[in-house]
Amino acid sequence: MTKPLVADVPQASQADGYEKIDQYNSQSVKRIADKYRTILDELGEDSQREGLLKTPERVAKALQFLTHGYHLDPAEILRSAMFKEEYQQMVIVKDIEIYSLCEHHVLPFFGKAHVAYIPNGHIVGLSKIPRVVDAFARRLQVQERLTVDIRNCIQDTLKPLGVAVVLEAQHLCMIMRGIQKQHSIATTSAFTGEFEQERTRAEFLRLIA
Ligand SMILES: [Zn+2]
Repeated sequence: MTKPLVADVPQASQADGYEKIDQYNSQSVKRIADKYRTILDELGEDSQREGLLKTPERVAKALQFLTHGYHLDPAEILRSAMFKEEYQQMVIVKDIEIYSLCEHHVLPFFGKAHVAYIPNGHIVGLSKIPRVVDAFARRLQVQERLTVDIRNCIQDTLKPLGVAVVLEAQHLCMIMRGIQKQHSIATTSAFTGEFEQERTRAEFLRLIA
């Protein structure tokens, strides 16, 4: 085996012409804001005091941004940059930042994703992998499903010889509520194809360590 291709793509999502979505559905912003005003009052706050006047609208916009993955098609992101290529060594994109919201508490979980695949006739533009991760992360999620969503999308769309996904994340719903030690990290993984073989998987895990 020749040397696998290992890429760090901390800023790939910007370099790719990927634009932060700050267009909002104004009807939806208004409806969410109205309900959030009620929530603030219910919590014992005064939603009419100066510091909170614009908070419901800001929260509504933040929520729309943090869940904009619902409007993205991750498979289409991959298909937009697939190329015929005979390269058949492991391709790894590691240290992809993830920011998601747990679906049980709507609180953030965040960390890193490491993704690898072994091409089978097609490769995909490296910057698309972090975008696929982001498209699934920017929704209400659980870490386990996020891991499998990413794996399945790459496997089903690119049809490589194997896919490996490892996610390491901290969950504020556990940390802030005192259920978890401050810095403990949850790790999840999902594999297909050649990564189900001990030797290939071990090489991947060594390269992301
Ligand atoms: Zn939670």
